[in-house]
Amino acid sequence: MIVTTTGIHEALEQYFGFESFKGHQESIIKSVLERQDTFVIMPTGGGKSLCYQLPALMMEGTALVISPLIALMKNQVDSIRGYSQSDEVAHFLNSSLTKAQAKIVKEDITAGKTKLLYVAPETLTKEENIEFFKECNVSFVAVDEAHCISEWGHDFRPEYRRIRTMIDNIDREVPIIALTATATPKVRTDIVKNLHMENERTFISSFNRDNLYYEIRPKGKKEQTYRQIVQLVKGWEGQSGIIYVQARKSTEEIAKILTANGVNAVPYHAGLDAKTRSRTQDRFLMEDAEVIVATIAFGMGIDKPDVRFVIHYDIPKSIENYYQETGRAGRDGIVSNCVAFYSYKDISKLEKFLRDKGVAERQMGTLLLHEVMAYSETTSCRRRFLLHYFGEEYTCDYAGMCDNCRFPKEQVEVQDQLKLALEAVVALNENYKIPSITTFLTGNENKEMMDYGHANHELFGSGKEHDKTFWNSVLRQALLNNYVSKDIEEYGTIKLTEKGRQFIRSPHSFKIPINHNFDEMTPVEDSNATTGALDPQLLKELRALRKEVAQEKDVPPYVVFQDPSLQDMATQYPITMDEMTRVHGVSIGKARRYGKPFLELIAEYVEDNDIERPTNFIVKSVANKSKTKIVIIQSIDRKMPLYDIASQLKLNMEELYDELDAIVDAGTRLNIDYYIDENIDEEVRDDVYDYFKYDAESADSEAAFKELREDDITMDEVRLIRIKFMSEMAN
Ligand code: ADP
Ligand code: MG
Repeated sequence: MIVTTTGIHEALEQYFGFESFKGHQESIIKSVLERQDTFVIMPTGGGKSLCYQLPALMMEGTALVISPLIALMKNQVDSIRGYSQSDEVAHFLNSSLTKAQAKIVKEDITAGKTKLLYVAPETLTKEENIEFFKECNVSFVAVDEAHCISEWGHDFRPEYRRIRTMIDNIDREVPIIALTATATPKVRTDIVKNLHMENERTFISSFNRDNLYYEIRPKGKKEQTYRQIVQLVKGWEGQSGIIYVQARKSTEEIAKILTANGVNAVPYHAGLDAKTRSRTQDRFLMEDAEVIVATIAFGMGIDKPDVRFVIHYDIPKSIENYYQETGRAGRDGIVSNCVAFYSYKDISKLEKFLRDKGVAERQMGTLLLHEVMAYSETTSCRRRFLLHYFGEEYTCDYAGMCDNCRFPKEQVEVQDQLKLALEAVVALNENYKIPSITTFLTGNENKEMMDYGHANHELFGSGKEHDKTFWNSVLRQALLNNYVSKDIEEYGTIKLTEKGRQFIRSPHSFKIPINHNFDEMTPVEDSNATTGALDPQLLKELRALRKEVAQEKDVPPYVVFQDPSLQDMATQYPITMDEMTRVHGVSIGKARRYGKPFLELIAEYVEDNDIERPTNFIVKSVANKSKTKIVIIQSIDRKMPLYDIASQLKLNMEELYDELDAIVDAGTRLNIDYYIDENIDEEVRDDVYDYFKYDAESADSEAAFKELREDDITMDEVRLIRIKFMSEMAN
């Protein structure tokens, strides 16, 4: 076929209505039209589909497009039909079709009406299909998501390995175009080898996404991390974002806590029914929901250009996953943030998942995980690390688009230590992975070192004045700077390069930053937020105001607001009604009833003292809206006896009272008169009520009980009346 530049441009305009090609598209399409085997590596959103769709439309016959996801096939077919006048132009053939539907598809192909046929790899294994394709005019075969071929990738599909055999059965000469968004050098070789691509032309687009800011944060306790997530999201208020988590439960929890803090967030995971999932997706695309909290089930095929942040609550299991998921941010080229939380504990969890896998898969999975660890712990440019991983050399000239470049760590001279590390690689016969080399250097007499006699080597323990993190950093930097290389075929053993040999012969200055040691790091709160120190002067003034209000309303002060609430106000400085409702122990009802003068006081105080309020700091927990509390409130509405409520919830009475206290203290009214009237004498009732109203200094039941004990009043009675009292007076 003779291909002219004007010809393809016209076709682009005619079939898709686009004015120009993106990146390498034009050369790729030419290559396909010339019936060359073609290999395309292009980041997500780069426009890979067009690379086979356009030539398919231009060529005689039908192009077979192999794609792993049946769910996405319909989408792709719809999208190509959208550009055309007839539906016959594109079809898919997979297990979801009925016999009758499949027959129509085949008829359209035979009639020469169909230019693109999407198939699952399984479709090609069926004998009847192979026989059919043999009779067809197949223009070329496109293998989309080609990394699925390699078990060294992150998404291995064994069926993909049989594609070549299938093609041979159909027509040995048919050209192939393979496409993927992520492929390390090893995966690339695998693809080319496995598909027997001949004299293939390879087109690699840079993986650099220079508008993405990468950051890793140490991950602490759950509540602490949730809090940081709320702060981050509030800092980007109103913008679209995705939060990735491992467990379905976390999607719900985080969505809930964000919602409680005024963010429109929705959960998404594979456990939701298809309808809910597609509605959630639509809401996100239509900006009806700002934030999606999702498992990795979300995002494939999502093409929203203005996703401003991607947060990983759990670290992904490979760099490929991380790159692809973060890649969904900032497709429009505007600066966007990628923050991942990292802890050793999460790595161990992921390692545990691998335990049940076969040997090869387990080793592969471990290797991928070690790369994730190395990436997380590195103190040098994260972009450089990522691009090196995908086989690109990158020199960071703009210091500031990752946390390490923005807040650089001090560099340490390690000339002698690098030499020692390289000598250790030699001492271990270039046959070990990084962890073993650091064990050797630090002189840790473990089984491996003893059994293989390495412990007797003169260099064993020669680096023991430094710890493993240090040696890990040295070896990682040696790798980044090509003094050593990693042999992927041999599961990541470290080999010396020529450059490394040279260095041993004549060492020179070599400076590196030492890795973070995440074991010793404690999570820091957002640096933009204040540390949340309590303001004692404000607290004093709030207390005075509370007293005034209490006198005016003829109630004890603690009925207005309890101490923890005042303390929280003196920390958070709320000045709007909305902010007031986020203060600890303050419900909407309570805020409306008592909040106004307090807000005024705080606003004035903030103004007078030039206080910078922690804008994204107020994080309301959702704990007080737990299921238990909802059940309790509903049961009391139905006047259920308290002991029945307790037994239904498997609580003892003590625990039930605690729950009831928490509910009324937070400002929700509970009417338990039906229970009190039946169980407590009128006289006792009045005594306790009056005590709380006139004598008590706090709402403490213990203190009340001590005081009232002499009158034969029980703790149960005290607690029940307290609940009635707080409910009526404070809420
Ligand atoms: P990939 O498969 O590489 O992730 P897609 O093929 O889904 O990316 O393309 C991403 C988006 O880019 C699509 O919305 C597509 O219509 C658009 N696109 C592709 N090529 C061009 C082009 N030459 N001009 C304008 N838009 C394009
Ligand atoms: Mg694609």
